[in-house]
Amino acid sequence: MKAALLEKLNQPLSIVDREIPEPGENEVVIKQDYAGLCYRDILSATGFFPRIQLPIIPGHEIGGTVVKTGSEVRNFHVGDHVASLIYIPCGKCEYCRSGNENLCPYKKSIGEEVQGGFREYVNVPEISLISAPKEVDTRYLPIASCVTGMIYHALFKLAKVKEGQRVLITGAGGGVGSNAVQMAKAFGATVIAETTSESKKEMLEKIGADYIVDGNGKFNEDVKKIGGADIVLECVGIHTFERSLRSLNNGGKMIVIGNIKPDPVNLPLGLIILKGNTIRGSISSTRKDVSDALKMVAENRIKPVIGSEVSIDRINEAMEMMKNKQTEGRVLIKFS
Ligand SMILES: [Zn+2]
Ligand SMILES: [Zn+2]
Repeated sequence: MKAALLEKLNQPLSIVDREIPEPGENEVVIKQDYAGLCYRDILSATGFFPRIQLPIIPGHEIGGTVVKTGSEVRNFHVGDHVASLIYIPCGKCEYCRSGNENLCPYKKSIGEEVQGGFREYVNVPEISLISAPKEVDTRYLPIASCVTGMIYHALFKLAKVKEGQRVLITGAGGGVGSNAVQMAKAFGATVIAETTSESKKEMLEKIGADYIVDGNGKFNEDVKKIGGADIVLECVGIHTFERSLRSLNNGGKMIVIGNIKPDPVNLPLGLIILKGNTIRGSISSTRKDVSDALKMVAENRIKPVIGSEVSIDRINEAMEMMKNKQTEGRVLIKFS
């Protein structure tokens, strides 16, 4: 089978030929029609995550059909549709035991510390898997953890979004942002979408954004004019952070889920003290989040936004386009 391999940092991925893996005793082997391409893949190829083990098959957005199970696997069977977490939790610590495995300090990142998903057949430990309803299109399985499940965690579990609240989403044209627009709408929120790309505005309207603000200017002033934001889902980081904070109404919540550039941000403390605002980080998703997000897809409450499907042979081009903000919605890597 074909696999994409990162041999050295800051180099294009090489397309190599690999054996189909055998499952370890606690693992299953999944056949993927698609894998998800994430901005994190671009960051990790530049050495953003120091624990990366080279050479590695990157890719953490994994999902598909179980084709083989290890001798100790109990809960999954051949033919099951599954989505994978983007990490392998330890399963033993207090976080793992309380259903907060996204905070497990011992978790291993798939595609960075263990071989990842840019290959058609992937071996994944049972502890990272979530079973998916059969009515969910297989294109949506690989993005159930890092896109829909992660947004669910941030918006529903942490921000506790309620019907009628005003939610600002930054980087709304991207893979995470566009799916967040849709999910916030499904929770009954009024959605304000921030983008710097004129060309993405049409798509944002189509998926239900109530207002669109231009990230090239002082969008916080535009957001204030239309009533401010009760919740900000910050998907970008340094470029939008301060203006996002200034967009919040008193007692507002900012949930930070994305950071495309690893530089420190400017944080005027008055904006959180005097306005009683909260800033909270959100990391990844738990198995329950992924399962709940998959249910929303199965019930047609959300229809994940897929921008394009690119063959594994062209993965480097797709990464370059994503880096240059030329992609809309989530990019899927195709294996056949
Ligand atoms: Zn991802
Ligand atoms: Zn743990």
